[in-house]
Amino acid sequence: MNAPRASRFVGVGKPRGIRVSFEFFPPKTAEMETSLWEAISRLAPLAPNFVSVTYGAGGSTRERTHATVKRILAETMLTPAAHLTCVAATRAEIDAVIGAYAAAGVRHIVALRGDPPGGAGERYAPQPGGYRNAADLVAGIKRLVAIKNLADIEVSVSAYPEKHPDSPSVAADIDMLKAKVDAGASRAITQFFFENDLYFRYLDRVRGAGIAVPVVPGILPVQNFKTAKAFAARCGASVPAWLAERFDGLDDDAATRKLIAAAVAAEQVLDLVDHGVTDFHFYTMNRADLVYAICHLLGLRPVKKPDTGVADGRGALPFAVAEPVGARRLGR
Ligand SMILES: Cc1cc2nc3c(=O)[nH]c(=O)nc-3n(C[C@H](O)[C@H](O)[C@H](O)COP(=O)(O)OP(=O)(O)OC[C@H]3O[C@@H](n4cnc5c(N)ncnc54)[C@H](O)[C@@H]3O)c2cc1C
Repeated sequence: MNAPRASRFVGVGKPRGIRVSFEFFPPKTAEMETSLWEAISRLAPLAPNFVSVTYGAGGSTRERTHATVKRILAETMLTPAAHLTCVAATRAEIDAVIGAYAAAGVRHIVALRGDPPGGAGERYAPQPGGYRNAADLVAGIKRLVAIKNLADIEVSVSAYPEKHPDSPSVAADIDMLKAKVDAGASRAITQFFFENDLYFRYLDRVRGAGIAVPVVPGILPVQNFKTAKAFAARCGASVPAWLAERFDGLDDDAATRKLIAAAVAAEQVLDLVDHGVTDFHFYTMNRADLVYAICHLLGLRPVKKPDTGVADGRGALPFAVAEPVGARRLGR
């Protein structure tokens, strides 16, 4: 008989072996704000390691990203991570954003180069007087922390199992990842992928290059196949034929699409667990249902407030977890 699968044993009643993080984007309208907060409220009791908020292309969401991160700090016990890019801003402008985050209590930044103002596909040229690339930005954050004597800021960066579309080779990509880690990044989060072998092959090369930080797989539950496919084409992720086949014929059948999406994501994350992966970053697209179900499969259960026993998204207290999950009390 084969050895039992590790994924059969992640679960309730055991120390928390799985850590998750959730990525959201800042809402544009009041309606989107409502659905974002419904998603946050639903997912917060799962006590994620952190929740991240993206930074719109070209810095277009600077204020909205900031407002969302501030609201997370003010209204929940979650640890927010603010995404930040080098695009269309001088060093002084970006340093001001970092300073404002530090002052607001943000202790984690996802540092990125970003796409050119004309969108992915256009040739990237650094902003005159700006940070040249993500490694330069990571170094800038760490320098600012030292010069201004700020509380330390944890820095996460991107990683690309299938190579970044601008990159001439996987080797060049891994050199860039190494430069980001050498500059002070302590975690890489991958672009989404659908074939786990791509991740494991990449991880072997990353470790072979002497990069020791966690390389957390980014998981995109396929809420909408057409959107996911278009998104994948822009960011250089491949969409295997078997995945298209699974969604084939379901354009007018939302209920079945959702079940298939859950099955596909479940198969992916449980296989990763079977191969020793313990950390997951979910691209939530500001929707909770699929991510919540997958986290449930991963053995995560709502953490209850000890006084009320109620699992409450707003101000959810990540109590009763068996090991630190990065959640933080603000003393409010
Ligand atoms: C986890 C994650 C979160 C993200 N969040 C955001 C976000 O909030 N906002 C946003 O706008 N985008 C976001 N992105 C997308 C990202 O900004 C784009 O992929 C962008 O094109 C590259 O930024 P980076 O920091 O990944 O680049 P880098 O890591 O600096 O570069 C990526 C690769 O491209 C190659 N490369 C870079 N510059 C050049 C060059 N000039 N010539 C040749 N090769 C080059 C390098 O080999 C490098 O490895 C995210 C991506 C990931 C994976």
